[in-house]
Amino acid sequence: MEDDALLTEQMAYYDDGAVEYDRQYTEYEQLRKLLTVVDDLPITGDVLELACGTGRWTALLAARAHSVTAVDASAEMVAIARARAASPKVRFVRADLFEWEPPRRYDTVFFAFWLSHVPPARLPDFWRTLAAALAPGGRAIFVDDGPSVAAQEEVLADRTVPVAMRRLDDGSQYRIVKVFHDPRTLTEDLTSLGWSARVRPVAGHFVGVAEPPSNG
Ligand code: SAM
Repeated sequence: MEDDALLTEQMAYYDDGAVEYDRQYTEYEQLRKLLTVVDDLPITGDVLELACGTGRWTALLAARAHSVTAVDASAEMVAIARARAASPKVRFVRADLFEWEPPRRYDTVFFAFWLSHVPPARLPDFWRTLAAALAPGGRAIFVDDGPSVAAQEEVLADRTVPVAMRRLDDGSQYRIVKVFHDPRTLTEDLTSLGWSARVRPVAGHFVGVAEPPSNG
């Protein structure tokens, strides 16, 4: 697919910038506050976490879950997450989520700031894979940036896939996929794919809870 190079660059950005990534959780109180939404979410049973990053959410999920399988492509991110969220309940898997097939079903699939990195053309497949990864009664739970956050990004114009430019401390530049989903449109998109979804805005971000089509 034409976005392959972009997805490779996106992985490199996060791997090369893993040690800088956590700074935003230190600098932005709003982001730290957002972590507390986990307390009110229906996190249950065996949880699959997509794109766990430095494990900020992983540790909180583990406190609520029976087990957490946390997947991320970056060795650097997984190393930091492993130190932060060390627990007999948590297992880390290093894998490219555009290639990886969940080997079993889970009660909850959670992803924070991952949906915005999935190219729009891949979303139907993404949601199909999630539906297949959920056990009966299971839910997808997700957190991400809403449209107002776009003002803080260097969004590149006229691309077939929505792209933003990110920079690391050493000045290196990377293009990443960045889709700022609108909560209402996202709810409609999920409904048209047969999901039952509630997506609510939370201070510039959104939090979604969705059940797959009954045959999922
Ligand atoms: N969920 C964490 C959080 O909210 O702090 C991290 C989110 S960060 C925006 C995106 C994460 O996606 C990074 O940890 C990065 O390594 C991971 N990632 C990027 N491309 C990936 C891919 N193709 N497969 C798996 N993980 C990927």
